[in-house]
Amino acid sequence: TQLQSKAATHPYPDWKPGSSVPYAALCQTFSLIEMTTKRLIIMGHCSLFLRQVMRLTPDDLLPTVLLMINKLAPDYAGIELGIGESLIMKAIGETTGRSLQVIKADQKEIGDLGLVAVKSRSTQPTMFKPKPLTVRGVHQGLMNIATVTGNGAQGRKVDGIKKLLSAADAHSTVKADITKDKGGPSEAKYIIRFLEGKLRLGLADRTVLVSLAQAIVCHEAEQKGKVPSTTDFENGESILKTVYSELPSYDAIIPAVLAHGITKLRECCKLRPGVPLKPMLAKPTKAITEVLDRFEGQKFTCEYKYDGERAQIHYVAKDSGQELSQETSGAAKEAAGGVASIFSRNSEDLSKKYPDILAKLHTWVKNDTKSFVLDCETVAWDVSDKKVLPFQQLMTRKKKDVKLEDVKVKVCVFAFDLLYLNGNPVVEKPLRERRELLQQSFAPVEGEFAFATFMDGQELDEIQLFLDESVKASCEGLMVKMLDGAESGYEPSKRSRNWLKVKKDYLAGVGDSLDLVVLGAYHGRGKRTSVYGAFLLACYNPADETYETVCNIGTGFSEQALEELHGQLSATVIDRPKPFYSHSLGGQHQPDVWFEPRHVWEVKTADLTLSPRYKAGCKEGVDPAGEKGISLRFPRFIKVRDDKKPDEATSSRQVAEMYRKQESVTKNKGPSVDDDF
Ligand code: ATP
Repeated sequence: TQLQSKAATHPYPDWKPGSSVPYAALCQTFSLIEMTTKRLIIMGHCSLFLRQVMRLTPDDLLPTVLLMINKLAPDYAGIELGIGESLIMKAIGETTGRSLQVIKADQKEIGDLGLVAVKSRSTQPTMFKPKPLTVRGVHQGLMNIATVTGNGAQGRKVDGIKKLLSAADAHSTVKADITKDKGGPSEAKYIIRFLEGKLRLGLADRTVLVSLAQAIVCHEAEQKGKVPSTTDFENGESILKTVYSELPSYDAIIPAVLAHGITKLRECCKLRPGVPLKPMLAKPTKAITEVLDRFEGQKFTCEYKYDGERAQIHYVAKDSGQELSQETSGAAKEAAGGVASIFSRNSEDLSKKYPDILAKLHTWVKNDTKSFVLDCETVAWDVSDKKVLPFQQLMTRKKKDVKLEDVKVKVCVFAFDLLYLNGNPVVEKPLRERRELLQQSFAPVEGEFAFATFMDGQELDEIQLFLDESVKASCEGLMVKMLDGAESGYEPSKRSRNWLKVKKDYLAGVGDSLDLVVLGAYHGRGKRTSVYGAFLLACYNPADETYETVCNIGTGFSEQALEELHGQLSATVIDRPKPFYSHSLGGQHQPDVWFEPRHVWEVKTADLTLSPRYKAGCKEGVDPAGEKGISLRFPRFIKVRDDKKPDEATSSRQVAEMYRKQESVTKNKGPSVDDDF
């Protein structure tokens, strides 16, 4: 209530109805959020601000929400800032008339470039006052920086940053002070943090979504002169969450909610070809008996777990009378017979990688199939022996601008789910029905398109046999899925108990591999002197947006892999660890070089153990004394995970869950830590 009563007034006299939202007002909200860790308070600040935006400048609601979630556009639009620390330091130096050396020294001392920018500005005399920054202007300025291409792009990116920085804080009445309240509501600080890709406010995307729902409900009630009830809030939240899970695009949802209101949102914002859904994910298991326990008394199905690349294929035939919404999908491509797009596990556009799929997919459909969204795995295919090839073969394919005539590694698409058919979403139907529709609507083409092999037997022996067969067929193991009832619906973006993965390699181990972020490396010795010999890896803690170290790794790399990784990683070296790296401070455990958090690797481990050297899961209460983190024993590199972003790496909570599920922990005799290099 206290927060709500503040909604009537705001300290920005220039912000009149219809005028652009001052960026300073958003930064003020960021600063309030940054001062607390309590989720309800964060949500209160966030929804209060969004409500003001809806009341005064609804046209700016979309850029405001995007700046809150540190995004410029939906993932599938492929807009990346592509800016490293050195460019940012250059821009700060040039804007504030300080030398690069001084900026670097400050960065070493302060460790947060946002605060370095605050410090640099506060020492600079203001000669003239540029126009105050607006939310729309900052969004556009950042967009310009992201979309610069061609000759001299780097220089023009620096110019773009300088333009924003020179207008930042020029009108602030509050003097930013890096010694107080984390720098206060400084515009420069948040611009720099946005450029770095981490606002570090503890403002999760989900919190923004719920806050937006609250703001909409309040605003709509206010317009009708009513006070919203608890049920209104619950309904609003549930509608927005469902709609966002099917159509994760604020670019589509926000204009629709402003035009039609929250109660009509489900009708006008449905899953649609062209906008990728966040895929449904599976929980790991360690034994087939665990699968049987989970599904006891309910029907389930087992499918081969193909080892390739996830692909969500969207298609609309020319004669369907429908459109694959071009305005929401920059990724739409002309395909034979219609328009199509292919998206990766993290909603990036794969169309340029798979022109061979685009050219053929119209031949997989039966006559009356006019539009669809399929969930599939693309797998490298051996044309002469007619069988699946290992994942490594798929990795040798070029990723961009592949020409049809240059395709050497053929792929076969294995479809395991159908999410949309002929104008209608089918995600809520039970899996058994979706599978029937899939089989009725498509026809397999040898070596190009197939249905995932499945088996509906419910007995332990049958499943064991099917698992063995899947491994013989070069698969990773099985996916076991709930088959009937409401629980078997497709749950976008959810790691669900209704899908379990059984990986052959992990039976009786930790249940799954981990996807970890490379934070640092150690120079190689002996044969490995010209490359990195070992690496420091971390999991991700979304609660406070930190990377927590989990192991050193030096095994599983071929000579060639080490050379390639050296090339990729050297380009991302930074002077010192980022302030959001949670690592052991002991000198001997520091890597020789630190990296930007860009690369995700899949890693196998024998088991997990507690260690004072690492920080993974420290905040999950795994060590009652709070001193030790979780670490991997005998970690082994499996592959690079290009399809995962660093914040999609295995989370600290998942690592803690794996650790707790381990038998050695329940027996209370954890093995000692054993670094592997
Ligand atoms: P995470 O580790 O986050 O679960 P991941 O991408 O590493 O994600 P995996 O552990 O490899 O996931 O298992 C799920 C993945 O398996 C899917 O994302 C998909 O790419 C692949 N897959 C292969 N066959 C199937 C199938 N029949 N059903 C569902 N997914 C399948």
